[in-house]
Amino acid sequence: MKQSSDKVFIFDTTLRDGEQVPGAALTKNEKIEIAKQLEALGVDIIEAGFPISSPGDLQAVKEISKIIKKSIIAGLARAVRKDIDACAEAIKPAKRGRIHTFIGTSDIHVKYITNTTREDVLNRAIDAVTYACKFSDDVEFSAMDAARTDFDYLCKIVESVIKAGAKTVNIPDSVGYSTPEEFGNLIKRLLNTVPNINKAVVAVHCHNDLGMATANSLSAILNGARQVECTINGLGERAGNASLEEIVMTLKVRNDIYKVDTNIKTEEIYKTSRLVSRLTGMPVQPNKAIVGANAFAHASGIHQDAILKKETTFGIMTPKSIGIPGHEIVLTSRSGRHALKHRLTYLGYKVTDKELNDIYVKFLEIADKKKEVFDEDLISIMQGTGQKAKEIYQLDYFYVATGNKVLPTATVAIKKGEKIFKDAMTGDGPVDAIYKTINKILKVEPKLTDFQIKAITKGQEAQGEVTVRVAKGDKEVTGRGISTDILEASAKAYLDAISKLESIKKEN
Ligand code: MN
Repeated sequence: MKQSSDKVFIFDTTLRDGEQVPGAALTKNEKIEIAKQLEALGVDIIEAGFPISSPGDLQAVKEISKIIKKSIIAGLARAVRKDIDACAEAIKPAKRGRIHTFIGTSDIHVKYITNTTREDVLNRAIDAVTYACKFSDDVEFSAMDAARTDFDYLCKIVESVIKAGAKTVNIPDSVGYSTPEEFGNLIKRLLNTVPNINKAVVAVHCHNDLGMATANSLSAILNGARQVECTINGLGERAGNASLEEIVMTLKVRNDIYKVDTNIKTEEIYKTSRLVSRLTGMPVQPNKAIVGANAFAHASGIHQDAILKKETTFGIMTPKSIGIPGHEIVLTSRSGRHALKHRLTYLGYKVTDKELNDIYVKFLEIADKKKEVFDEDLISIMQGTGQKAKEIYQLDYFYVATGNKVLPTATVAIKKGEKIFKDAMTGDGPVDAIYKTINKILKVEPKLTDFQIKAITKGQEAQGEVTVRVAKGDKEVTGRGISTDILEASAKAYLDAISKLESIKKEN
């Protein structure tokens, strides 16, 4: 039986599958910040983490469960009781909490991961769902590697877990192996074969190993799937998951074909994409569909001419529809609080008058250095204010003597609470000298695995954003620093990363 609803539920797993990407580890506060934005975006279900994986992850899911009211909060659990216990504890404070349990069902997973038989996997799945239902009336079951699972066996599993109480049954293409025709057909056959399928929502979870995650998800929707699992910017294991923005905008722009809607407020897409990219340190490729820097840039003269005559000649959607802001009012050092607040509201920030005063001070600092303050500047100010709480170490001041014929020497002062620590070191270059001094002061020696500088606003007085990746043991984190001075941005980014390593150590 085909599922008849014309609503597709959006299940975002940026905080779970997305966060599994090496180097994308997020602190609890960053996860909360993303969860709030996902709620504003209108995501139906936020998969907030995998509670058994670490005490820090459990705590983050719990905090998110307390704060988020509109979206359902899901936690992941293997089909094992201790995982389900941890997940149940984590989602307990949620207004609506979901336990998402899974087990590999393909022969290759049954044999090499679980080391058992199909019969045993079936029993474990039924047991897990039955057990999870004691804690929540919203239980989702995933047949991991479903796309490579024997069809008759898959039908039996799906029927059994629905009977055991699963309200959502997820059919993942965990390895990104399927093709649109094949995957759509699989969903259609399941809907036509499993007798009790109408008692559950059929979900899909596609990976992008062959670049077909979005196409496979859409094909599944066309064939009756009514929940898609996806991530912002397509972040996720290996080549990533299906991208939320691509699926949502395709359903919107080509509604004539798909004839289904989502609850997503598409005007929030761009902001969410920027936030996730910055907090995870994972850049978005410029030619990425929907949210790439060039997605709405028209370079060809013929196209530019045409689009000025009529936007729809080469534009199939407007930048505004995904929330890319225009510049109606130019903000400068002469702008007042009112203009600033107006712009912040347009960018989706709600600030109290007290907060506005603090933000205005920071705004003026930037406005004094630059002629015009861009939206990106404001977003970086806002993200800066959000980060303050977790900063363990702050840059007090630094001084660098450098040149092409002198030994670069840095003096750095770091603030921790009320105390200030300072020292000096030489290095191969100014950034190296700063980092060596910070290491000496904080008595740390993490491994710097990546260093990137990017101009985030336009012009000579552009703000530079430095992103670093720093590793210590098995933990790898991303640090960011923003300033009109790239050395200052470099120092801030490094201190941000070290603060993060410290707070992750504490959370776990
Ligand atoms: Mn996955």
